[in-house]
Amino acid sequence: MPYRGYVRLNIELLRGPDSTQHLFNMSVEYLREADVQKCLRWSALVPKMESALSQLSDKSVVQPVKLVTPVPGKNGVLLTMPAYSRKNNALGCKIVTSFSGNKTKGLPSVIATVLLLDGDTGKPKAIMEGNMITAWRTAAASVAATKHLHSGKKETLCILGAGEQAKSHAQAMHDQFKFSKIKIWNRTPARAIKLCEELDLGSICTVHSTAQDAASGADVICTTTGADQPILESAWVKDGAHINAVGANRGHHSELSVELHRRGAIVVDSMETALVEFADLIEQGIPLWGDVGSIINGKRSKPGEKVTMFYSLGMAIEDVLSAELIYENRLAENKTKYAYTVDTP
Ligand code: NDP
Repeated sequence: MPYRGYVRLNIELLRGPDSTQHLFNMSVEYLREADVQKCLRWSALVPKMESALSQLSDKSVVQPVKLVTPVPGKNGVLLTMPAYSRKNNALGCKIVTSFSGNKTKGLPSVIATVLLLDGDTGKPKAIMEGNMITAWRTAAASVAATKHLHSGKKETLCILGAGEQAKSHAQAMHDQFKFSKIKIWNRTPARAIKLCEELDLGSICTVHSTAQDAASGADVICTTTGADQPILESAWVKDGAHINAVGANRGHHSELSVELHRRGAIVVDSMETALVEFADLIEQGIPLWGDVGSIINGKRSKPGEKVTMFYSLGMAIEDVLSAELIYENRLAENKTKYAYTVDTP
C-alpha cells in the first residue's frame, strides 16, 4: 500500500543547495529576498498584521524599546528590534543597519535582516533578508488600519512618494481594496512615472505634478517619504478621508501639517512608542486618540473625527510574525516539493 512520506525532518526541508549554514548541529536556512517574496501573500499577511496590532494593544507581546548603536566615523547606525508573541510563541529579532555611504558602493543604505528563533528553545530557525519584509509588513499594517478606521468608499487612493514603501503600499492597497484610481506624486517626478509603470495597472494609475493635485478628492492617502517638512496640508484632504502616515525624517510626524494634526484623530500602532516619538506634538496640545489594536480587538469603537490618521511607527512584532508566516509557508512549500511515494512491503 503506497503512503506519503517526507524525505527530511522539517528543519532540513528548509535547506537550499547553497544557502545552508550549520549551527549547533542543525541547519538554518538563509532566505534571500526572492525566497521571502515567494512566501508572501497580502491576503495572509494583512490578518497577521491585524493580530500583531491587536496583541500590541492588549500587551500580550514582549517588545523592548529599539536599541540604537551608532557606528562612529562610518556614518552608520545599527538598530536591534527584538519581539516575542505569547499567542504565536514566535520569537525573533530584526537587525537594521543604515550606512549613508553605501550608495557609492552599490549597496542599499538600509539593510534589514530578520532572525527567527524557536520560541521554546531559542534555537535559530531561519535568517531572512529583511528589506522585503519591512516593505510588506508596513503596507499590510496600513491596510489593516485602513480596514478598521475607514468605513467609507475606497475609490481613489493617493500615494505621496515613489520609493519602496510607496510601491508596497500601492500594491497592498490595490490588492485588498481594488481602488479605481491611484494618484501618485513624488518630489522627483521621473521616479513616480517609473513606479506607475512598475505597478502596471494601466489607466488606473496617474502621476501628478503637485501633492495637492494628487491628494485632492482621495479617499485614502499614504505618505511614504523622508520629507522633513509637511508635504500634505489639511485643506487638500477631504472630510471622511483616511491617511496612513509612514515616512519618518526628524520624526514620524514631519509629513503632515500641524493643522491636519489638529483636525483629525491620530491613531498609532503602539501608544508606548508614540508617547515618546510624539512628545512635541503632545506638548503643543495635539492629543493622540489611541492605538488601532484596541479597535481591532473590539475594546473601542473607531474615532468620530472626519479625518483619521494612522501613524505607522514600525513594530518588531510585525517583523517577527511576518517571518513566522514566511517560515511556515516555506515549510509547507518544501514539504510538497520533497513529498514522495514509497511502497510498503
Ligand atoms: P526610499 O528611499 O525607497 O524612498 C524615499 C522616498 O521619500 C522617495 O519617494 C523620495 O523622493 C522621498 N523623499 C525623501 N526625502 C524627501 C523630501 N525631503 N521631500 C519629499 N520627498 C522626499 O525609502 P522607503 O520607501 O523605504 O521609506 C520611505 C519612508 O518610510 C522613510 O522615511 C522611512 O524611514 C519610512 N519607513 C517607515 C517604516 C515604518 O514602519 N513606519 C518602515 C520603513 C520605512 P525622491 O525620489 O525624490 O528622492
